[in-house]
Amino acid sequence: MARTNSTIEAAALSEFATQDLYREILTRLGEDPNRDGLIRTPERMEKAMAFLTRGYKQDINDVLHGALFDVDYDEMVIVKDVEFFSMCEHHLLPFFGKAHVAYVPNGKVIGLSKIPRLVDVFARRLQVQERLTRQIGEAITEAISPQGVAVILEAQHLCMMMRGVEKQHSFTVTSAMLGVFKTQLQTRNEFLSLVRRNGSGF
Ligand SMILES: [Zn+2]
Repeated sequence: MARTNSTIEAAALSEFATQDLYREILTRLGEDPNRDGLIRTPERMEKAMAFLTRGYKQDINDVLHGALFDVDYDEMVIVKDVEFFSMCEHHLLPFFGKAHVAYVPNGKVIGLSKIPRLVDVFARRLQVQERLTRQIGEAITEAISPQGVAVILEAQHLCMMMRGVEKQHSFTVTSAMLGVFKTQLQTRNEFLSLVRRNGSGF
């Protein structure tokens, strides 16, 4: 059977274990990957990167399975200060902070403990903060078709803090306002005032 160039390249590449590739990166950085402190570093890097990007292997439907409930409740549900850790897709450096998530139900709610797990599924991938924010909102919309969803992320980016000048204390804030949070100013303001309480800085 004929093979295309890309499958030949993929086959050749797969002969390198991931750890060999990390060893090569260490060498090209100017290091000796065989010195004591680095000898097991490729193995650790492989494990760490697999952990930090494990969201690719997680399915939102599995996470939410059994945690969607019918309710007769139409007041705002808010889960705030959800810690998250992600990796920027431009530099593969961490960005991290807090997510504030709210929705107004339309007959269904999500078990509260599932919201942080849902955030994690998308945070544990290579991301830009704007997309992460939107994906959280869209996943909730798809799961329970609420009257509206609001997501705010406040994050610090190491690619700004470690490389930039005088950006060590800056937070990047992104938001996604869907449904009634977009159309009703009062609902949006209620969410913002509840999130701002307890000292959020934005
Ligand atoms: Zn970056």
